[in-house]
Amino acid sequence: MRAPRHHLGEMVSSVLGSLFRKPATIRYPYAPFKMPDRFRGPPKWESDKCIGCKLCSRDCPSQAITITKVGEKRFDQTVDLGKCVFCGQCAETCPRKVITMTPDFELAQIDKQNLKITYHASPAPAAPAPQPAAAPEPAKGAGEPTV
Ligand code: SF4
Ligand code: SF4
Repeated sequence: MRAPRHHLGEMVSSVLGSLFRKPATIRYPYAPFKMPDRFRGPPKWESDKCIGCKLCSRDCPSQAITITKVGEKRFDQTVDLGKCVFCGQCAETCPRKVITMTPDFELAQIDKQNLKITYHASPAPAAPAPQPAAAPEPAKGAGEPTV
C-alpha cells in the first residue's frame, strides 16, 4: 500500500528537519555527563574537621556510617554505599559541616566490599622535639684565680 502523498511530504520534511537539529539523546558514556546541580550522590567527608561526635552515624536511617577514633582528636569515617540511600541526612546533621553530598553516580562494583569507602584523618602532627637541657650555671667563685 502506498503512503498518501501529503503524509509522505510530512515525513520527508520531518527527516530533513532532524538532520539539522541537536539530538535529543546524549553521548554518555562516550562523553562525560554532569548531573543536575541539586543531585545527591554519595556523601564525602573532610576528615580532619570531624570531632567524632557520631551524630551523623546516629541519624543515618540506613546505619551506613561508622566513625572510628584513630588518634588524639582524629577520626576516620566509613560509609557503606551499599546501604546508603543518599538522603543527605548526615550532611544536614553534622554540626561541623564536614560532610557534603557529591554528584557522583558511577558507583557500580563487582565486589560489594568495594562499596565501603573510608575517609582517613591525616596523621597527628609530630610532637615537638625535646629541648636540650640548659647548661648548669658556674658555681659562685668558680673560674676565679685562687691565691
Ligand atoms: S546520605 Fe543518608 S543514608 Fe547515606 S550515609 Fe548519609 S544519612 Fe546515611
Ligand atoms: S556529625 Fe560531623 S563531626 Fe560528628 S562524627 Fe559525624 S562527621 Fe564527625
